[in-house]
Amino acid sequence: MIKLMIILLIPFLVLLSQEDEYKQARYEMVKHQMANRNINDKSVLDAFRAVKRHEFVPEKFIDNAYEDRPLPIGYGQTISQPYMVAYMTEIIKPDENHKVLEIGTGSGYQAAILAKIVKEVYTIEIIEELENEAGKRLKDLDFENVSVKNADGYYGWQEHAPFDAIVVTAAAEYIPPPLIKQLKDGGKMIIPVGSPFFTQRLMLVEKNGEETKTKSVMPVRFVPFTRGNE
Ligand code: SAH
Repeated sequence: MIKLMIILLIPFLVLLSQEDEYKQARYEMVKHQMANRNINDKSVLDAFRAVKRHEFVPEKFIDNAYEDRPLPIGYGQTISQPYMVAYMTEIIKPDENHKVLEIGTGSGYQAAILAKIVKEVYTIEIIEELENEAGKRLKDLDFENVSVKNADGYYGWQEHAPFDAIVVTAAAEYIPPPLIKQLKDGGKMIIPVGSPFFTQRLMLVEKNGEETKTKSVMPVRFVPFTRGNE
């Protein structure tokens, strides 16, 4: 009887230890790559503890999911470095009543992080295959407050505008005017700006009435913002 119980327990313990292995890696990521680097917003740190990054990377990179770097997701694109996702999430000052637009769905990870904090997330991806994969992934993982569409994000998502915040995860040559238009009064946008072959700058845009303030917050490197007709 005892033997049988042990035999039955083994697969269960193996599964449990695998889950724990990633949980520990995830909590370490939050501590070392985020909390120790001045990410302080508790709702942001909690979101990174809750969302399983290893479910958003290709199978062959699953053991690298919690490392301090971007990873390839196919089609020449990447899932951003965890710290960068945290920084861009914290700087828009997300709250539970917010409606946020993301341009560049990629794996869906940034959208999932936002979805844990804000009320509604709208995310646009220009590569159809990535949009399909991310849409399916977010649905399978029960992220019910995220809507994904395949389009050129340059034009934003007029139907759901205005947004409390906009997060752009591909580097544009300039800030697309339609995105500024779709930002709420008092809203914030975070966007990497610059050419693909030179250093880009992460810009924080704040809209106050007719006035739009723009400030450069750090040098960065992102995949290019492409256009529908290119
Ligand atoms: N936020 C993603 C990072 C993806 S990398 C994540 O968490 O995984 C940036 C993504 O922006 C790429 O998938 C790229 O295809 C997409 N992209 C580039 N230009 C775009 C555009 N004009 N509209 C929508 N998506 C775009």
